[in-house]
Amino acid sequence: MTESITPPAGLPEKIRHYIGGQFVDSIDGEEFDVLNPVTNEPYITAASGKKADIEAAVTAAKTAFDEGPWPTMLPRERARILYRIADIVESRKDELAAMESFDSGLPITQAKGQASRAAENFRFFADLIVAQVDDAFKVPGRQANYVNRKPIGVAGLITPWNTPFMLESWKLGPAIATGNTVVLKPAEFTPLSASLWPGIFEEAGLPKGVFNMVNGFGEEGFAGDSLVKHPDVPLISFTGESSTGQTIFANAAPWLKGLSMELGGKSPAVVFADADLEAAVNATIFGVFSLNGERCTAGSRILVEDSVYDEFVERYAAQAKRVKVGLPSDPDTEVAALVHPEHFEKVMSYVEIGKTEARLVAGGGRPEGFETGNFVQPTVFADVAPEARIFQEEIFGPVVAITPFSSDEEALELANNTKYGLAAYIWTSDLKRAHNFSQAVESGMVWLNSNNVRDLRTPFGGVKASGLGHEGGYRSIDFYTEQQSVHINLGEVHNPVFGK
Ligand code: NAD
Repeated sequence: MTESITPPAGLPEKIRHYIGGQFVDSIDGEEFDVLNPVTNEPYITAASGKKADIEAAVTAAKTAFDEGPWPTMLPRERARILYRIADIVESRKDELAAMESFDSGLPITQAKGQASRAAENFRFFADLIVAQVDDAFKVPGRQANYVNRKPIGVAGLITPWNTPFMLESWKLGPAIATGNTVVLKPAEFTPLSASLWPGIFEEAGLPKGVFNMVNGFGEEGFAGDSLVKHPDVPLISFTGESSTGQTIFANAAPWLKGLSMELGGKSPAVVFADADLEAAVNATIFGVFSLNGERCTAGSRILVEDSVYDEFVERYAAQAKRVKVGLPSDPDTEVAALVHPEHFEKVMSYVEIGKTEARLVAGGGRPEGFETGNFVQPTVFADVAPEARIFQEEIFGPVVAITPFSSDEEALELANNTKYGLAAYIWTSDLKRAHNFSQAVESGMVWLNSNNVRDLRTPFGGVKASGLGHEGGYRSIDFYTEQQSVHINLGEVHNPVFGK
């Protein structure tokens, strides 16, 4: 218990902004409390950024962009710094994971995996910019055309509290690899691990002003909103709730900013009777209970063919009851504490709603022995109707809805019957069905007979209310760069002549 209550070694005195290479407080001096999810007691304060702090950060980022050297450095030189960043992240993995786990309530073993993934993101985008090729086109004897790829300017990066460090790396990697400068606004519930970025970047030799960070809230007048509305920030990459995405879309409209949005989900896992049932149970358990269920791509609606439905529900509920709930710092813990009491209340309210809408077959309350903090039992509802709120709405916790189906058509109708469209998981041994279903399902990503394992080269994004645009691989490079077409006349000028 003590390890989850006592802050990890290396904790800063307080969490500050980082602007132009300096740690600074908010201009108005305001701070807010950050809570430990195991006790819900404040353990540190963080600077609360507002418009004036964003102004200072954007000025620093714009100066670093306009005066260089970062945007004009050779890709190979930038890549060397990105590799150093990756190595430092990897070498500080245990410290990073301890901070992330303490701050967010993520199980420590899973937090370590996320730290390694963060390092990998920097390596991957370093590789991409070195290997970057761009299009060239020829019209023999008349014209040659080529694409001149350029960084855009100051990128505004706004991130959520689930796997915060990894998700920040997912935006920071491509944004800086391509020569932009950035202002990061980390999530207010989990600012701790982000406070390590400045030290990592300084040690790696990133020039001052390329990375800037303003902590605080997102709402009107606060840091997130002010970043979106700043005229010198042409790009906003946002990950968070769909409703926040809608607000940001509207607030960015007057400037027609470049937007990339990774939003909420309520992804189906569809289990056909011909599937390897054991593999499907194991993967769908992991898919919804890993990361405490606070996972955008969680397969939180499981659709099961009626001939294996009862067996599946029984096996699933039995295994869910064995998922190990424990302290975030315990390496054996599989589900730990939700991030914040507000989020705990939200998840618990869905558990109560579920009890009125469906059949509870596992969990449904606080785990024994965890009378304080944001602990929720892995909770399973069966016989969930498609109109139920627990079928339609994103809960973002360790709560799953299981629904039967009796034909491929019904499975597809159920799979597509929410406003979201992030991921879909399909379990079947019939290849034709697997591919046909993948093509018809309304989701940005599909996994066939697989857990959520991502190749960093593939596009990542959602359809419907789950997102706008794609990041991942070259899509990230495209988002963070301007592609200017240069046209060269190789022959006679062939324009019609006016005014002769
Ligand atoms: P959130 O939308 O409440 O907040 C996300 C970030 O936006 C925070 O930094 C917040 O301060 C900021 N923000 C809030 N209002 C803002 C505004 N008006 N203008 C600018 N910034 C604002 O989301 P959350 O609760 O932190 O995260 C959970 C959500 O994120 C879930 O819906 C989850 O599915 C989603 N998510 C999606 C992905 C994906 O890749 N699709 C990944 C992780 C999380």
